[in-house]
Amino acid sequence: RCGFVAIVGRPNVGKSTLMNHLIGQKISITSKKAQTTRHRVTGIHTADTAQFVFVDTPGFQTFHKGALNEALNKSVKDTLSNVDCVLFVVEAKRFSAADREVMALLPKNIPVILVVNKVDKAKDKVELANFIDDVRAEFNFADAEVVSAKHGQRLTELLAKVEPLL
Ligand code: GDP
Ligand code: MG
Repeated sequence: RCGFVAIVGRPNVGKSTLMNHLIGQKISITSKKAQTTRHRVTGIHTADTAQFVFVDTPGFQTFHKGALNEALNKSVKDTLSNVDCVLFVVEAKRFSAADREVMALLPKNIPVILVVNKVDKAKDKVELANFIDDVRAEFNFADAEVVSAKHGQRLTELLAKVEPLL
């Protein structure tokens, strides 16, 4: 299996940290998929049974409230609708207007996995479960996973949920 995975979320949720942990060897893409030439590839993780190609979403790295014009919106939407799976990253127990603005651009026809990061900071499991339920109520996510990008926790479990979608 080989597929394209976009990682999106407001600044500071831990996207870069997650990316750094997910990317193992950097080897060239072997895929013949049409998407190969369309995206800016951020990194590739090669596992025994799958190759995950992570792609950038233009705009989100320099996202400021109110600064997204229509063209930028379209560019982000194009990217998100041309991947096999989207990882929407949020910070455990913190969901703000900025998260909601990114959420509004998520594709409806491609699986989006909710990634609740910084779970190492969320000590109260009941509170965390309630938080996840609240976020899941706002969008039709294909799945959800709690991780700690910083400590490399539950990233194998996350990739196991992504792999069948590629
Ligand atoms: P980005 O803006 O979404 O790319 O976020 P970064 O990857 O730059 O991370 C923002 C901050 O959150 C940094 O200080 C990271 O060290 C911190 N961070 C990222 N992941 C975790 C995590 O799992 N746990 C904790 N406690 N901090 C994290
Ligand atoms: Mg970053």
